[in-house]
Amino acid sequence: MLGAIIGDIVGSRFEFDEKPVEGFELFAPQCNYTDDTVCTIAIADAILNSRPYKDSLLDWCHRYPDPMGGYGNMFHHWLNSDHSHPTSSYGNGSAMRVSPIGWLFDDYHEVLREAERSAMVSHAHREGVKGAQCVATVIYWLRTVRMTKEEIESAVRHNFGYTLPPLKDIYKIGDEGHFDATCQETVPYAIRCFLESQNFEDAIRIAVLAKGDTDTKAAICGSMAEAFYEIPEELIEKAYEYLPGDMLDVIEQFYSSIQQEISHV
Ligand SMILES: [Mg+2]
Repeated sequence: MLGAIIGDIVGSRFEFDEKPVEGFELFAPQCNYTDDTVCTIAIADAILNSRPYKDSLLDWCHRYPDPMGGYGNMFHHWLNSDHSHPTSSYGNGSAMRVSPIGWLFDDYHEVLREAERSAMVSHAHREGVKGAQCVATVIYWLRTVRMTKEEIESAVRHNFGYTLPPLKDIYKIGDEGHFDATCQETVPYAIRCFLESQNFEDAIRIAVLAKGDTDTKAAICGSMAEAFYEIPEELIEKAYEYLPGDMLDVIEQFYSSIQQEISHV
């Protein structure tokens, strides 16, 4: 989940006006966590503390009602409607928050089912569900069966029907000013950015330089990169400086629960 949070914070300042250039500073004063981090924390908290996904998302998003960049339109409406019935959204929000599921469940079918449940509370369109399932599953595949990048590309095509565009096409779309707000755009773009990377920092940089929805693309790419590479300690320390105490508590609980699991193997 820290991979997603680091991607979110690094990408945050480039989502709207500022355009990233090669060699950009990763953690600038204008950076902050955004909705991707708030919602990722909510999903982790739901699983770790046995809360319904919906209750946890509503709790965390109401605790942080105005993160940098705000919430997506449909999700904002969902948050503030009386009964918070799911919308038919296929926005990339279901995929940017799902990484804890790829780590906290150890069975392929459970990962798929929980990703679907986490998406369905707000993003009930089949593309919204599929985007969440794909990201959680890629993380699960990388950390358990240690799939190679080539295997990931063909499994993503076979199991989820995503054809990953070449990086140069993704960059061209970003340069033209297109904003990728949907699962069916951002998820395959983020996977391609991860597949092209050499290490964790490189993955985040490639995703941010693709422009468009930079924080979410880097969050999704970073969440997968975390399952494949080590995150450098200095990036973790820098990210922590941006996060409030209640978020850090959930992060600590998440990593100690994964650690226990690793030591049980
Ligand atoms: Mg965001």
